[in-house]
Amino acid sequence: MARKTTIKNDDDEAEEPVRPSFGSSAGAGNFEDPNQQRFDDELRPSKLEDIVGQMAVVERLRILLEATKKRKEPLGHLLFDGPPGLGKTTLATVIPRELGTELQITAGPSLSAPKDLLPYLTNASYGSVLFIDEIHRMPPTVEEFIYPAMEDFRIDITLGDGLNARTINMKLQPFTLIGATTRSGMLTAPLRDRFVNREHLDFYTTEELSTIISRNSQKLRTEIAPEAAHEIAIRSRGTPRKANNWLRWTRDFADARANGKITLDVARAALRMKGVDDAGLEEQDRRYLETIINVFSGGPAGVQALGHTLNIPADTLEDEVEPFLLREGFIQRTPRGRMITAKALAHLGVTSKSKTKSPRDNSDPASDQRELF
Ligand code: ADP
Repeated sequence: MARKTTIKNDDDEAEEPVRPSFGSSAGAGNFEDPNQQRFDDELRPSKLEDIVGQMAVVERLRILLEATKKRKEPLGHLLFDGPPGLGKTTLATVIPRELGTELQITAGPSLSAPKDLLPYLTNASYGSVLFIDEIHRMPPTVEEFIYPAMEDFRIDITLGDGLNARTINMKLQPFTLIGATTRSGMLTAPLRDRFVNREHLDFYTTEELSTIISRNSQKLRTEIAPEAAHEIAIRSRGTPRKANNWLRWTRDFADARANGKITLDVARAALRMKGVDDAGLEEQDRRYLETIINVFSGGPAGVQALGHTLNIPADTLEDEVEPFLLREGFIQRTPRGRMITAKALAHLGVTSKSKTKSPRDNSDPASDQRELF
């Protein structure tokens, strides 16, 4: 059944968005932990003016929304792409709220056949929004089914099979499809081209994340020192979802080990306990970098091979681990694979003539002398 939520256009909290269950551990990265969904929804900004950062994107959205309201026509289909946790779902839920229209939410992995999409399309009211998260994971049959819906607001349904097969043409109410993807490169060109508006979300600055942390600590009724908010922001990998998660953890830590207030010392101790270093790297990032150094002699290493060695799906590495490491210059992507950089070696305290010690290291004394480049 299609699930629908009505977004009100006033300050009241809207009816809780109904989220589908997601079968995948990859992709947007927030579906592994069932609590993550609840945390995200609790701290999600509900109005465009509450969105921090992404200024150019928000400005363009404002223009689109204003024009849509003036013309009283549905908004053109819109695609958001960018790494997980940067606000794609947030923007997709804010838009119908700003327009005062209905929102339906689903995700690529839960649409295994056209019949799964059918209720969403037939339930869509004039000008309403259908949000498809992880849209790159829709199977080709569903993708083909959605083309006429996006273009002409009609669907072709085949009834029966063989000689008795008939195709019925069904008109739909003009609606807006908002797609979100962590992998715009995996979208087929025909699908990408059907989105008239495309927006890329980039990582946030430390100042923007500090603002998000301070605002959300108020929502969570927790006192936080500005320098503690800044410290958490530095270690949040440019990602609001990470910042929110670290805020929650430091808050728990402050309640359990201090007097409930998040001071700089409390924030540092809490994040140290989670193994987050001062560049925001976590255990998984360090293992990834050390694997390139120790197992692949600094690279190039293919993502599949890295995934097998680390026992982490390659999808997860590409979506959740690599974007930040690439942006921060800890790795380079070359046509032959991932390469470690001098910055990563310096960060891990590895000289170009030594290797980090890892459980995989066979302690070959000669290998310690091997140059990485
Ligand atoms: P995505 O869909 O890109 O994976 P979400 O939209 O679910 O990311 O964002 C994750 C969380 O980060 C949200 O719950 C929200 O609290 C926070 N967040 C994301 N973008 C912003 C923003 N621009 N301003 C404030 N909070 C944000």
